[in-house]
Amino acid sequence: MLKLVRRIGLRNSFLTNKLRFSSAPLPEPVTNPEIKHTQIFINNEWCNSASNKTFETLNPATGQVIAEVQEGGKADVDRAVQAAHDAFKLGSPWRRMDASDRGVLLNKLADLIERDSCYLASLLTLDNGKTYSQSYAIEVPGCVKTLRYYAGFADKNHGKTIPADGDIFCYTRHEPVGVCGQIIPWNFPLMLLGWKIGPALALGNVVVIKPAEQTPLTTLYVAELCKEAGFPPGVVNVVPGFGPTAGGAIVDNPLVDKVSFTGSTEVGVQIQRNSSSTNLKRVTLELGGKSPNIVLKDVDMKFAVESSHQGLFFNQGQVCCAGSRSFVDASIYDEFVEKSSARAERRIVGDPFNPKTEQGPQIDETQLNKILGFVESGKKEGAKLVAGGKRIGSKGYYMQPTVFADVTDDMQIAKEEIFGPVQQILKFKDLDELIERANATPYGLAASIFTKDIESALYLVQGIRAGTVWVNCSNVLKSQTPFGGYKMSGFGRECGEYALQSYTEVKTVTIRSPMKNS
Ligand code: NAP
Ligand code: MG
Repeated sequence: MLKLVRRIGLRNSFLTNKLRFSSAPLPEPVTNPEIKHTQIFINNEWCNSASNKTFETLNPATGQVIAEVQEGGKADVDRAVQAAHDAFKLGSPWRRMDASDRGVLLNKLADLIERDSCYLASLLTLDNGKTYSQSYAIEVPGCVKTLRYYAGFADKNHGKTIPADGDIFCYTRHEPVGVCGQIIPWNFPLMLLGWKIGPALALGNVVVIKPAEQTPLTTLYVAELCKEAGFPPGVVNVVPGFGPTAGGAIVDNPLVDKVSFTGSTEVGVQIQRNSSSTNLKRVTLELGGKSPNIVLKDVDMKFAVESSHQGLFFNQGQVCCAGSRSFVDASIYDEFVEKSSARAERRIVGDPFNPKTEQGPQIDETQLNKILGFVESGKKEGAKLVAGGKRIGSKGYYMQPTVFADVTDDMQIAKEEIFGPVQQILKFKDLDELIERANATPYGLAASIFTKDIESALYLVQGIRAGTVWVNCSNVLKSQTPFGGYKMSGFGRECGEYALQSYTEVKTVTIRSPMKNS
């Protein structure tokens, strides 16, 4: 019976997200997971920080400390980078490994993550506050599938022979970039870990990872699994710590060849600048967004309301590609607002381990207060608060699902990334005006369009400047499909075949030859 309830809970919570789910029942969580790793991981060994400092990681559902984690600083990052650099030396076990065997290792890592999926999903829920159903059914498979996807590419990143002019034989070698610094945010710690290490390791790079200070525990556990899988020492290193110190030290280290960063646009800009001023590192940035969620007048109202609701409230609204500006056709606006506000009021907020819960706590008090500040600004600027707007209780960082109607483009809540469960509903009348308004933002990460009218959908797809456009769905992120931003949402693509480019250097080899390779 409990299994049945869990299965139903899982389905109900993500009605519109069937695209992402298996129908497997949700296994029991480990409600009090043992914390196995809190140290720094370098050269396949666990160690304390050079400073001996630690920091607390909290359970957002209670605000209580889960564990003290070693706080990596510059000295630790430099040691991790040196270990990675050594592991990448020509003739090292990693460089001599057959490409197909790198794929075998990645698949082995995926197997181990799957073996420990209940534990990892539980640890993630404890550290991040996202629902266990989401941790288990989205984050763990999101990581595993990406590792397997790139495992298949390990021996397929081939160069070309080129029919160049003259008596020369010319070919390209696709080589790894080298030491990759990978900086991860707290909103999808496991899935994004897979997005980062999957392509990097498949192609023979070595990595130094800095998880977000709020959510270090799952990354540290996966580091141990990398060792168990058989990755040679120095190939994967994890340094938990703070952004400006540990993250900054990665960006400043001249032995780091590439930085891959996911997080805020503000920090992304700094990383780009500092990476250039040290050694012109290759940089890929996946940053913030203020994505339009467009609802045309011909839609099935129930479907559009539910999809828009999930497109914003999924993961407590802490999603870079959240549909945070809902543009709704004027002729159906009032009905859409009424139904969206009713839906938000029905959203089940509470213990993230309860299978019926749709929304857990926000990541921390700072983010919660930031969200509450946006709510105040929305009210002050004349938007109509039609649902929620307040903190829930005082234990843990819970927020009422919140909806604003009568939002106009000039309001702060329509312009800035709120990163919380706050839906903005705007009105539009005409498609061309809509395209202009949808694009009137420094961001360009994603957009959703809801309509049965294929011509309008294709017109909007062309007009909207964003890295991803979803039609009649939202937040669909797959290992096989590239994801990344236009404009200040960043550059470079993660996932899919496109991500291989950013972990590859192309070497042109030209050999004088009496035989042309034409
Ligand atoms: P953030 O400050 O950009 O943090 C993302 C990652 O970068 C974390 O690992 C962070 O470390 C690290 N970092 C911070 N400052 C750094 C620096 N100077 N050099 C190198 N690394 C640095 O984001 P946040 O504080 O977690 O959240 C703030 C806002 O960012 C959110 O409100 C949201 O708008 C946006 N955000 C976007 C995404 C996304 O997926 N696009 C994800 C999360 C947040 P620490 O954790 O130690 O600070
Ligand atoms: Mg935490």
